[in-house]
Amino acid sequence: MPSAPGGPRLLLRRLREIMAEPVGAQDRLDKIVTQIAANMVAEVCSVYVMRGDGVLELFATEGLNREAVHLTVMRSGEGLVGLIASRAEPLALSDAQSHPAFSYKPETGEEIYHAFLGVPLLRAGNTLGVLVVQNRTYRVYTEEEVEALQTTAMVVAEMLATGELQALAPVETGIALRRPVYQKGVALADGVGLGHVVLHEPRVVVKNLIAENIEAELKRLDAAIGEVRLSIDELIERGDVAHHGEHREVLETFRMFAHDQGWLRRMREAVTSGLTAEAAVERVQSDNRARMLRQTDPYLRERLHDLDDLANRLLHRLVGRDFVTERENLPENAILVARSMGPAALLDYDRSRLRGLVLEEGGPTSHIAIVARALGIPAVGEVSNATSLTEPGDAIIVDGAAGEVQIRPNPDVEAAYAEKARLRARRQEQYLKLRDVPSVTKDGVEVTLQLNAGLVVDLPHLAETGAAGVGLFRTELQFMIAERMPSASEQQALYSTVFAEAGDRPVTFRTLDIGGDKILPYMQSVEEENPALGWRAIRIGLDRPGLLRAQIRALLKAAAGRPLKIMFPMVATCDEFERAKLLVEREKAHLANHGHPLPSDLKLGVMLEVPSLLFQLKEICESADFISLGTNDLMQFLFASDRENRRVADRFDPLSAPMLRALNMVAEHAEASGCVATVCGEVGGRPLEAMALIGLGFRSLSMSPASIGPVKAMLLEMNVAEVSALIREELKTAGGGQTLRPKLAHFAETHGIPV
Ligand code: PEP
Ligand code: MG
Repeated sequence: MPSAPGGPRLLLRRLREIMAEPVGAQDRLDKIVTQIAANMVAEVCSVYVMRGDGVLELFATEGLNREAVHLTVMRSGEGLVGLIASRAEPLALSDAQSHPAFSYKPETGEEIYHAFLGVPLLRAGNTLGVLVVQNRTYRVYTEEEVEALQTTAMVVAEMLATGELQALAPVETGIALRRPVYQKGVALADGVGLGHVVLHEPRVVVKNLIAENIEAELKRLDAAIGEVRLSIDELIERGDVAHHGEHREVLETFRMFAHDQGWLRRMREAVTSGLTAEAAVERVQSDNRARMLRQTDPYLRERLHDLDDLANRLLHRLVGRDFVTERENLPENAILVARSMGPAALLDYDRSRLRGLVLEEGGPTSHIAIVARALGIPAVGEVSNATSLTEPGDAIIVDGAAGEVQIRPNPDVEAAYAEKARLRARRQEQYLKLRDVPSVTKDGVEVTLQLNAGLVVDLPHLAETGAAGVGLFRTELQFMIAERMPSASEQQALYSTVFAEAGDRPVTFRTLDIGGDKILPYMQSVEEENPALGWRAIRIGLDRPGLLRAQIRALLKAAAGRPLKIMFPMVATCDEFERAKLLVEREKAHLANHGHPLPSDLKLGVMLEVPSLLFQLKEICESADFISLGTNDLMQFLFASDRENRRVADRFDPLSAPMLRALNMVAEHAEASGCVATVCGEVGGRPLEAMALIGLGFRSLSMSPASIGPVKAMLLEMNVAEVSALIREELKTAGGGQTLRPKLAHFAETHGIPV
């Protein structure tokens, strides 16, 4: 190919000189395109810049009609230039005009050019524009030429990023350096947060692009690669990681990538073409990121993420920044953006400055989601490419209820969300006023509202919400966020703290509910076809009683002299509960023999989550002191619909006749036998569902802290007798799987019940 003598290296040197010249922005850009055209032996070189309104505008050209500059525009996706911008990848054609996307712009006079090579102007995962060269002949551009133009594009992108060209853009549009981006994810934790991006593991933005001394830059690159490899080797060889199969596999793949010859070659070539070592890493990473943005296969995306991580490590070495995040120096109104995050990592941040959390991974039942909810931090998960689309300091809004994220929102959007946040805060204030109001319905029925909790950080919510106690303490959370199995004394210490924080309020502890979706990272996991139906919860407890007994002992010891309630998860038969009770008796006897003080009162209950218990209600009500309805699992098993699977999770309605009839059976049996029945699944925290539950006869509900206010506001306005009559009447005739939701919602609306 007819590349000019000196190739890209000479070009970069010339570009550096042009950048240093004291000329205006347009002159500088004109000089740059002329230089690129000459260097690439092209008749045309043009720069298209992405404006804030998403339109690509011709900003400079050598070879096309000068009059077209700032006149020719294209939408993203329109024409070849638009195609390159939307795909964020190069396009080389020997005959541009025969390409189906070719869009003829007569004012440019481009009809005489056939060969076309365009590359995106990429910076930190954003497409800022497109750089194009064209030739009259039907020539084929070589891979080296494509690479050379990509390297040049990086320098132009940096020029755009410094804002020098901003003045040339139409006032009302500006250059889309920081284009607004809307991303839909999955709601993890309720609330609206406005603030600025803090990357959990910040990327380095490279500013020093052009090499002074190529040999020295190659040496720097090699040294950094050597160091990164060594640090990965050390990580793998560390004893604690070596034992765990899965971690090890991930790290081994990572190590393999660190030795990937293709990747190393591309970075070395980029340095040889005249870039600094860090710019070369960034250049290769940019391509990689662009591919990542388009990749839909989760496995391949994961691998590209690995490469991204590696490049990041390299950049941190080269730019000399520490890899640790700025957790201690969190700015005000920080919104954390991370690919994924361990639940304990979130607790490291200063809670008072955190306004939200955005994750590329993490479903609603992930542990990080549980912790975010406990801390009251609005959070959205499954936001594709969140870390590539944002830069530290970007304005960002998290809507944890709708599962939406607005990156660099325009002022209208920002104002709308600020209003939403204000409204929410006002509503919270109203709920706060209800805190000390007794939770009694209009017709004088008292309903106990309790909290679901699982971490120490949950407990201040007791006082804040005025909840009557903790109706469900998920003890597995301590195990899930720990790096190793908590010892018996650590368990006891946690339970003592819980008692101390709860004061006079009762706490119902649920024994370890592990297995299924709740996996302990340090425990050998068992491969199961259907983990939700597998070896989990009380099944593990009864088969491996050592673990369950240690926990029961810790609970009994922590409760010394106080009332204690323990319940067992996933009980499927009465017999399982009887066996669990025996274990408790044995532990009690053991402690008594050793002179330990025992709880002042001990109540043992079952979680009703498995439908088989619906057909043992008489026996279970006689045997248990209380029943707690786990409607999350009961719904999943009653309708055979996986609560983790978004396709089916909301397919069936808890207010449909089959579920209401099941709940009714429980309420009737409990009342007849005098056994207390509580609801601790998510439905108890939704006002309309809570109204139905109270109508069916339930007098105790346990829910997340944020639900206490709305549910109390609802029940203060409801009349139990009326709701009860309505549901019973409707259930007589409701056919098939019919839902009572519309009828109940209509009732609430016409009776002024806030739901
Ligand atoms: C339930 O299943 O409804 C429940 C409360 O338990 P978990 O959500 O912890 O499975
Ligand atoms: Mg459950």
